[in-house]
Amino acid sequence: MKRLLLTLIAVMPVNAVCQAPGSRPPRTAPPKAPGWVSEPAITAADLRQRLFLIADDSMMGRETGSLGAFKASAYVAAEFRRLGLEPAGDSGTYFQKVPFWDVKVDPSSRLVTSSGTSLRLGTDFLPVSFAVPPRVLTQAPVVYAGSVADTTNLMAPTGVAEKFVVLDVPQGFDRRAIGPLLGRYRDALTIGIVALDQLGSEQIARIREGRPVADTSRNPRALALVWLSRQAAAAVLGKEPAAIAPGTATGTTVSGQYDFTRAAVAWPARNVVGVLRGSDPALRTEYVSLSAHHDHVGFDHHPVDHDSLRAFNRIVRPIGADSPNRPATDEENAKIRAILDSLRAIRPPRPDSIRNGADDDGSGTVAIIEIAEAFARAQGADRPRRSILFVSHTGEEAGLLGSRWYSDHPTVPIDSIVGEIDQDMIGRGTASDFPRGGTGAGSPTYLEVIGAKRISREFGEMLEAANAKQPVPFVFDYTYDAAGHPLQYYCRADHYSYARYGIPSVAFSRGEHLDYHQVTDEAQYISYQDLARVTQMVHDGALAVANAPRPAGSETT
Ligand SMILES: [Zn+2]
Repeated sequence: MKRLLLTLIAVMPVNAVCQAPGSRPPRTAPPKAPGWVSEPAITAADLRQRLFLIADDSMMGRETGSLGAFKASAYVAAEFRRLGLEPAGDSGTYFQKVPFWDVKVDPSSRLVTSSGTSLRLGTDFLPVSFAVPPRVLTQAPVVYAGSVADTTNLMAPTGVAEKFVVLDVPQGFDRRAIGPLLGRYRDALTIGIVALDQLGSEQIARIREGRPVADTSRNPRALALVWLSRQAAAAVLGKEPAAIAPGTATGTTVSGQYDFTRAAVAWPARNVVGVLRGSDPALRTEYVSLSAHHDHVGFDHHPVDHDSLRAFNRIVRPIGADSPNRPATDEENAKIRAILDSLRAIRPPRPDSIRNGADDDGSGTVAIIEIAEAFARAQGADRPRRSILFVSHTGEEAGLLGSRWYSDHPTVPIDSIVGEIDQDMIGRGTASDFPRGGTGAGSPTYLEVIGAKRISREFGEMLEAANAKQPVPFVFDYTYDAAGHPLQYYCRADHYSYARYGIPSVAFSRGEHLDYHQVTDEAQYISYQDLARVTQMVHDGALAVANAPRPAGSETT
């Protein structure tokens, strides 16, 4: 999932420490083994070679609709073709096109105050929601609603139609708490939220430069929100918010218009679908689906120093983007400094702006290719009786949209899929990621399991049995699978798009870490031995399900 929280981190911006051109520290990419040819067996070396390809900077973070994601899908298809899988996308190809659009704020958007101040797009104001029908303001009267930090004195929600309502947000206020308050001014022509200065430069850049979405429809009930800078708020209100009582009609007005443009994404977003045909004539029209997502979140518009970010996250944000973003304490800063000093002793700073997504979900992507290879080269009993459907999804970070599109537009009958196994972020989970030790997170046996027994207990038991036969079995951790778990992982991974259709579905992960959704999620930090173990376990689990009687509960109505 995409995350763009308030950026308060003490990371040193690159221009402060930029090195002379050509002094980039060497990447620890494995030398491309001359004539490297992958093996039939599942090996750490094969996984490593492919992952360094998929997660290379040249893939630009593989955002859906971008050249990087397009190249990644081409690579997956080329591997499916090389391995002899049947194309199972659109019209006999490996590709299933998934409609995506690029939406960004219309650069011609303008707002002018009655005192003649023209607000600058992106600096003074920034429209928020692209679902709002285009807004035209003609001397819209301004009214001050108050501060979100003082809800008892907020202006009443009446009489705001056709008005420009301004809502103040004190510095450091948790913006997630604003949402529930906004609905009260739903009838306003526009709600100006005084928090633009608190947005991360990345968030602003994405609204201005565009992001991929699948649904561009307009919603007349959508809230017409505009971020305002504190300076712009004073210009709109005629004075500082703090000097005005909530509910005051300031006598000033705002004119102008704003909207979002919609254009087809630059590079078609596509799922990649291939079939390894089963060996049993009676079962080969049934499928076990294996999936992962090849898209990630792209690149940042403002590079940071790689090591500084990692040192900061190691201390302050141990699960990366899922950790609250806050300043470091003095004590933490000392620890960060110590880590950085030790790194500076061995290498200079490295500017970094690409979210490589090596673990998310390069690890799952190379795993399904490696499993496809093992099955494609298998003989006899090692060949599955049912067919294996390999689906490399796009659009996961944009909201599970590739898997949703596939399950809504399946290229094989949906009721012929007897089980779905999704792998997302299976390349980490080592002790350095989770310095808590024991059998929990951070140990070689740690594996998060979501959904395995929710629709079919048998399905889950087959996977547990296959796992039990591994040289070092994983300990299936169902913590995040608990019904009502606050993080709601069950609905946040691609397997859910299949579970919606009653297909027994599981998602495997080795858990989050300090590089989650960061520019530092690179191939050099992946634990390839552990990745190979997960891949082998999933291979064996898929084989078991492909060869067994159909798991109870998988008969879709
Ligand atoms: Zn992911």
